[in-house]
Amino acid sequence: MAKMKAVVKTKPVQGAEYLDVDTPKITQDEVLVKVRATSICGTDVHIYKWDPWSQGRIGEKALPQILGHEVAGEVVEVGSTVKKIKVGDYVSAETHIPCKACIQCLTGQEHICANLKILGVDRDGAFAEYIAIPESVCWVNDRAIPPEFASNQEPLGNATYTVLGADYNVAGRTMAIIGDGPIALFAVGVARAVGVTKIFLVGKYDFNMEIGKKLGADHLLYANKDDVDRVKFVKDNTNGFGADIVLEMAGSPQALDEGFKMLRKGGRFSAFGIASESPTLIDYNNGIVFKGSQVHGINGRLMFDTWFRVRNLLASGRLDISPVVTHLYLLSEFAKAFEEMMARPRKSAKIVLFPDKKEYEEARRRRGMR
Ligand SMILES: [Zn+2]
Ligand SMILES: [Zn+2]
Repeated sequence: MAKMKAVVKTKPVQGAEYLDVDTPKITQDEVLVKVRATSICGTDVHIYKWDPWSQGRIGEKALPQILGHEVAGEVVEVGSTVKKIKVGDYVSAETHIPCKACIQCLTGQEHICANLKILGVDRDGAFAEYIAIPESVCWVNDRAIPPEFASNQEPLGNATYTVLGADYNVAGRTMAIIGDGPIALFAVGVARAVGVTKIFLVGKYDFNMEIGKKLGADHLLYANKDDVDRVKFVKDNTNGFGADIVLEMAGSPQALDEGFKMLRKGGRFSAFGIASESPTLIDYNNGIVFKGSQVHGINGRLMFDTWFRVRNLLASGRLDISPVVTHLYLLSEFAKAFEEMMARPRKSAKIVLFPDKKEYEEARRRRGMR
């Protein structure tokens, strides 16, 4: 296996190429994983488009680079100092690679390490037959979780961490989730599974809102229609208080403004969406100070507290993410998959790619597709 197929960003323009490249050589503290499934993230779309963010974050000098970071696969080789991962293990990967030396790393906040390296951003990614992964971020999956779901644990981890917050105080509470992208949809499912009792989903696209409904949203509020006063609606349906918890997962000025208004006094505002402009205006006095709000910024997921919870939620069957996993493609069909991801109005949520045809066909059968 000297050569492998991979989706490679070769030029600083939109697109990528399906090429034969060298199979990665692992260092002593890495493992080589044969990719069974890999899902497309918003980050991959940024890189695919080669937008200003990826031009600044990755830059032309880093090319060629293999895209992708959400992965599930089998370990086929381990480095000489690798201890806990074995050949044959069924694994996924935390994509944030911590330095283990900064203050965050030394005090239990590795997910926001000062010198974070990201899989598929700062080094070659998972849209390939094989990927090299440091042992420190390798995560052993439960075999009850099929690869097309296991690859989604990384974004599902974002959703789970956002829902649970710092105090995990969510059971019996009300929650407004603003945004209808895949992570917001995952958040709806997680919120339902962990006992949130009333969920408002604020979004734009019928396709995604329907998925949100399937996952357990009680009320769908359209951000792009003015038939309903959304803030008033949330208050009217929470005894006039506002939602106990607001998850901001859209990042638009309107979402930020309405999010703080929907929040009840003393509630928790979880900030996950990346603002379209930063610095950005918020009503600081009324939204945070006088309201006594707790504001929680979310970057990644806890290593590895969130991962244990995600694995248990998926393996138990109590969280069914199948409505969010809308499309499966062969890795070679990546261009079609990216077109699907970029289409507006949205007609897809999570898309999973398979390097191996047999694996792809089995996944389609499992999901009742064809
Ligand atoms: Zn991702
Ligand atoms: Zn660090």
